Amino acid sequence: MKQMVFFLLIFFPAFSLAAADQAVFRRDGREQVVTGRLLAEAQDGGLLLLAPDARIWAIMPKEKIEHTHDAIPFQPLNREELSQRLLAKLPPGFNTFSTAHYLICYDTSRAYAQWCGALFERLHAAFMNFWRRKGLELQPPEFPLVAVLFADQKEYLQFTRDELGDLGGSIVAFYSLMSNRMTLFDLTGIETSGRPVPRNTAQQINQILAQPGAQQTVATLVHEATHQIAFNCGLHARLSDCPLWVSEGIAMYFETPDLRSAKGWSGIGAVNRPRLNRFAEYLHRRPADSLATLIETDRRFHNLEQSLDAYAEAWALTYFLLRRHPKEYVEYLKILSEKKPLIMDTPKERRKEFEKAFGKLGPLETEFHRFISKLR
Ligand SMILES: [Zn+2]
Repeated sequence: MKQMVFFLLIFFPAFSLAAADQAVFRRDGREQVVTGRLLAEAQDGGLLLLAPDARIWAIMPKEKIEHTHDAIPFQPLNREELSQRLLAKLPPGFNTFSTAHYLICYDTSRAYAQWCGALFERLHAAFMNFWRRKGLELQPPEFPLVAVLFADQKEYLQFTRDELGDLGGSIVAFYSLMSNRMTLFDLTGIETSGRPVPRNTAQQINQILAQPGAQQTVATLVHEATHQIAFNCGLHARLSDCPLWVSEGIAMYFETPDLRSAKGWSGIGAVNRPRLNRFAEYLHRRPADSLATLIETDRRFHNLEQSLDAYAEAWALTYFLLRRHPKEYVEYLKILSEKKPLIMDTPKERRKEFEKAFGKLGPLETEFHRFISKLR
């Protein structure tokens, strides 16, 4: 998931849910108009608008020309409108393909797009079921969930340069909080291998992806798709201060699919081996305040040297809480889901909220350590 950080503005949440707002602003020398639902308005006039294509626009005071409230109710684009708008921005050669919850734009083979659509739908159903069984009723997504599939990595890199910069080369798939889209390129490599493509049925793609080397790439794809679902069905609110250990922990909890199982999704909640191995190794050098630093800020996730340990610890903590304290964990998630965009908690507030849900860190650390050390 790509994080955006806003340094300049202190935003206050807006509560005009029904009507749309309109902003005229100047960016890159061009006057632009965006109509959408006002998510937040800053003291100095900065705006956060949710557009009908699900993109969030952050408009800075110096860019703003005019801001008006509209009596017309806010409405997401329908699939046809959304599809046309997406295709207009993509390179030539793209098509769209719809499933119950997804709108897939692809220039891969249709079989590959269908395979991705089926995988996402399976994940979506499994995700909703999982939380329902835990007593958490989530909402169906307000917008179609958009995934853009590139056949060619070079084109993918070109298209994502604005968002990913040089990082693109190492990221095979990502979910963007601002555009609400998932962007990825063909994981199988068969589209660009020069081998004949048209007959690659879903089964053939499954076989390719079931190879050992492909597992990590599929995990990344499922990880990003989990973020997208979580931010669209009300588990987290986009641009709210949902701690990263929580959103990443959940994405990693789901990233262990067993694709060979024909029925459903048997991988949810399996021990995530690569994350557990990393955590076991981290345990030898893990500082005494590790749980505190993980919970109080997102800093460790943004530090290149510390981020893999932070991810591993976030997986371990999520796994532990879901196994040992599921009721408390779900109650905690409900509190986080209410958070408003761009209202940031202090480290103290985060810790207080956590300890209110799970008790003091000291005793929890002892229990957590004992639980994880016994995991095989
Ligand atoms: Zn993530």
